Amino acid sequence: MINLKNLNYKELEKFVLEKGWQKFRAKQIAKWLYNKKVKSFQEMTDLSKDIRQTLEKECEINSLQLITYQQSKIDGSIKFLWKLKDGNTIETVLINEKNHKTLCVSTQVGCAVGCRFCYTTKDGLIRNLETSEIVDQYINVQRFLGESEENRISNIVYMGMGEPLANYENVKKSVQIFTHPDMCKLSHRKITISSSGILHQIRKMYEDKDFPEVKLAVSLNASNQNQRAYLMPISQTNTLEELMELLRSIPLKPGWRITLEYVLIKNVNDTPEDAKRLVNLLKKDKHRFKVNLIPFNPYPESDFERPEENRVLAFEKILWDNNIATFIRWSKGRDIAAACGQLRKKELLQIDV
Ligand code: SAH
Ligand code: SF4
Repeated sequence: MINLKNLNYKELEKFVLEKGWQKFRAKQIAKWLYNKKVKSFQEMTDLSKDIRQTLEKECEINSLQLITYQQSKIDGSIKFLWKLKDGNTIETVLINEKNHKTLCVSTQVGCAVGCRFCYTTKDGLIRNLETSEIVDQYINVQRFLGESEENRISNIVYMGMGEPLANYENVKKSVQIFTHPDMCKLSHRKITISSSGILHQIRKMYEDKDFPEVKLAVSLNASNQNQRAYLMPISQTNTLEELMELLRSIPLKPGWRITLEYVLIKNVNDTPEDAKRLVNLLKKDKHRFKVNLIPFNPYPESDFERPEENRVLAFEKILWDNNIATFIRWSKGRDIAAACGQLRKKELLQIDV
């Protein structure tokens, strides 16, 4: 069985031609899959009966099954828990921003990177998601919300479970599908890939002509090399200095900035000295970067704590006083199993164990 959402536009055309159908069938199928978001091949009414039958026999149309969802009473964000074909589970979070909706997608079951503060990585990497499993998070949530203008998801952030650049090919294909004018038609400017800073993969992405140009976020999480190597073991080999050098050199479209994410952890990296070191790190090219401060989301048995609000505000102020664009990301839906991966863990305990 082939899942059609594993195919980018070129591959879909190739598939159609190999079946002996005319090329324009690819455009029709793409419209049904990504625009109409149909649940079955039978709904593809402008295809001949023969084509529909062949598709039904040989292809799959959905890779996710909704297990449960929770809506935050605080900010209306919704967390979805899906079951994959092999029984693994993943999460997607819909975030209601002031004027738009953002979907936070997962790219792996688990993660191999091993950041000390992160719940997703506790059991290591289980597997990469297929392209269709990434794209279907968007298709299913948009279908769940309905297609009205006010419910339209305009932004996608690759900040759910997993390290997107460690699942390079499937993530790349999902971005191709999200941005293709005959597929999801989302704006390149409104898609952000967040990475822990795997240097060779970031370089590869910028050199890859087939990788649609989308925004980059990097999880910095520290103000010096020792601290970063402690919090993010990947920094032992992909050092802060090399990372900053790379981020200063990559080409950016006019008006685009790189987001630096900084998880603020109480008494670990949240001091005024940290803020000042961060200023020093960024002062040479302030306009290249913006900083997102994310107060740590505690979870059962986590080694770390969230800093008090005044500490977070003081950190932010030092950055703003030095003209560094800084935004605090108070985590959405703190009441719905806040940190990434938590809903999944909760369900695992209930279902599988
Ligand atoms: N692997 C990618 C994307 C997924 S993690 C990356 O690391 O960038 C998305 C963001 O969530 C990262 O910036 C990470 O530092 C942050 N994060 C992970 N665990 C967290 C927690 N418990 N509280 C707050 N932020 C967390
Ligand atoms: Fe993986 Fe990102 Fe979590 Fe680090 S923060 S373990 S890279 S998901």
